[in-house]
Amino acid sequence: MKIPKSRSDQHVVLEALQRAQRGDMPFDRMFGYVYDPGPEATEIANRAAAIFQWKNALDPTVYPSLLRFENEVVSMMASHLGGDDAVTGNFTSGGTESILLAVKVARDRARALLPHIARPAIVVPSTAHAAFHKAAHYLDLDVVSVPVSARTHRADPASMERAVTDATILLVGSAPSYAHGVVDPIEELAAVAQRRDLLLHVDGCIGGFLLPYFERLGAAIPPFDFRVKGVTSVSVDLHKYAYAPKGASVLLHRSKDLRRYQLYTCSRWPGYTLVNPTLQSSKSGAPLAAAWALLHYFGDEGYLQLARELRDATTRIARAVEGMPDLRLLAEPEMTLMAIASDSVNVFVVADVMKAKGWYVQPQLGFDGGPPNLHLAINPSNLERIDAFLEALAASVQEAKGVGPGELAAQVSGALAGLDPSAIDASVLRQMLAMGGIAGVDLPERMADINDVLDALPHAFKEKLLAEFANEIFRTPEGA
Ligand SMILES: *Cc1c(COP(=O)(O)O)cnc(C)c1O
Repeated sequence: MKIPKSRSDQHVVLEALQRAQRGDMPFDRMFGYVYDPGPEATEIANRAAAIFQWKNALDPTVYPSLLRFENEVVSMMASHLGGDDAVTGNFTSGGTESILLAVKVARDRARALLPHIARPAIVVPSTAHAAFHKAAHYLDLDVVSVPVSARTHRADPASMERAVTDATILLVGSAPSYAHGVVDPIEELAAVAQRRDLLLHVDGCIGGFLLPYFERLGAAIPPFDFRVKGVTSVSVDLHKYAYAPKGASVLLHRSKDLRRYQLYTCSRWPGYTLVNPTLQSSKSGAPLAAAWALLHYFGDEGYLQLARELRDATTRIARAVEGMPDLRLLAEPEMTLMAIASDSVNVFVVADVMKAKGWYVQPQLGFDGGPPNLHLAINPSNLERIDAFLEALAASVQEAKGVGPGELAAQVSGALAGLDPSAIDASVLRQMLAMGGIAGVDLPERMADINDVLDALPHAFKEKLLAEFANEIFRTPEGA
C-alpha cells in the first residue's frame, strides 16, 4: 500500500473513518476492554485531550501545565491508596508500563545493593497478570510462578515464602487479580516480604482505583495498599475504573529512594539531555489531561456513586449466573470482575453465540487445572443493559448445548502430541492457523475452534502459535 497520492477533502477522510468503525462493537454491549463513563464524561475527556494532544511531555520544564497535572494526579492516587507524603510516583501509559517499571526498580535496586545475585528472580502468584512475565522477559529476569489456592484462587503466602531464594528480588500480589477478580492476602505477603527483606509490588491496575470505594460501601476487603507496611509499590490504571481514555496509569513508590531506580537519564549523545522517568520519551499530554479532567468531573462522590451502581449490578449478575444450571462462578466476585465456567457446555461456543447476538464476553483458557471460562468486567455503560445481557447469556447457553468440541482441536492436539515445540517450524504453525480459518485478511467469525485448540496445547505451543497468529494478521492489506 502506498501513501495516497493526492489530498482528500476533510469530509471524505472523516466519513471514511466513520464507515470503518461500523463493524466495531458498541461499548455498552462489551464486558471487557472498555470502561465507558457515558456521553457527558466522554465529551469532557475528549475536550481535555484535544487541548493537550499536541503538547509533548518529553520535557517537564517546557510544559509546566503537564508537570503540574502529573504531580496532582499522582498525589491524588497516593492519598486514595493510603500513602503518606513520602509516597511518590509517575504517570505512565498503562498497567503494563507501570508493572515494567516496578520490576525495573526491583532489578536496578538489586544490581546496586545485591550485586552477588547473578540472575535475579521475581516470585509471583500464578494468577499475576501476564505483564509481569513480559517485564521479566524484557528485563532478563526469571519468574517463579507459585500456584494459588485451588479453592479461593488467592495467592498462598506460605507457598510464596517457600519459593523465595537468595536470588529473589520482588514479590507480587494482585488487588484484585484480573482473571478471577479476587484480592490476594496482601498483609500476609507483606509480612513475608519484610521477613525476607524483599520489595512487594501490589498490582492494583484494575482494582486500585475502585476497591477503596467498595471498602467505603462496606465490602470486607482486607487492606491492600500503602496502609500495609511492607508494600513498596502499587500500580493503578486510570484507564480502567477511573474511566479515562486509554494511555493512563500511575505507578506509586513508598519513597523517592525507591523511585530513583525507575528513572533513566542520558547525556551520551549530541542531542537534548534526556531525563525520562518512564518508558516513553516523546509523549502526548492528552491521556494525562483527560485523566485529570475526569478526576475533577466525577470527584470522589461521583466515583462513589458509580461504584455503588457497579457493585449492585455485579451482585445481580453473579446471583443470576448462579441460578443458571449450566453455569458456575469460579470465585465470588470481590469487585466487578467474574469468571464463569460450565461443566455442561463449551464456554468458547457460548462466547461465539454471544458475539453473534452482539455481545462481547472474554474467553479465558483453562489454567493450572482450572476450566476454561468467560470473563466479565462490568463497566458503567453496561448498567442499563444487565437484563438484556442476562437474557442473551441464558439463550446463548441453550444454543451452545450439544455443540461438542470441534474436530479441529482433536486433530491438532493429536498431531502435536509428543512433539517438541522448538521442532515445529513456522510453516506448520501457519497451516494450523489456516485450518482455524486464519489465512485471509478477515478474522474468523467463530473463535471456538481456535480457542479449543489453544486450550489443549502446552504453553510453549500456545505461545508459538499466538506469535505466528500476530505475524499473520499484521500484514500488507489485500489488493494493495
Ligand atoms: C489491565 C491489567 C494490567 C495491564 O494493564 P494494561 O493497561 O492493559 O497494560 C495489569 N494488571 C491487571 C490486574 C490488569 O487488570
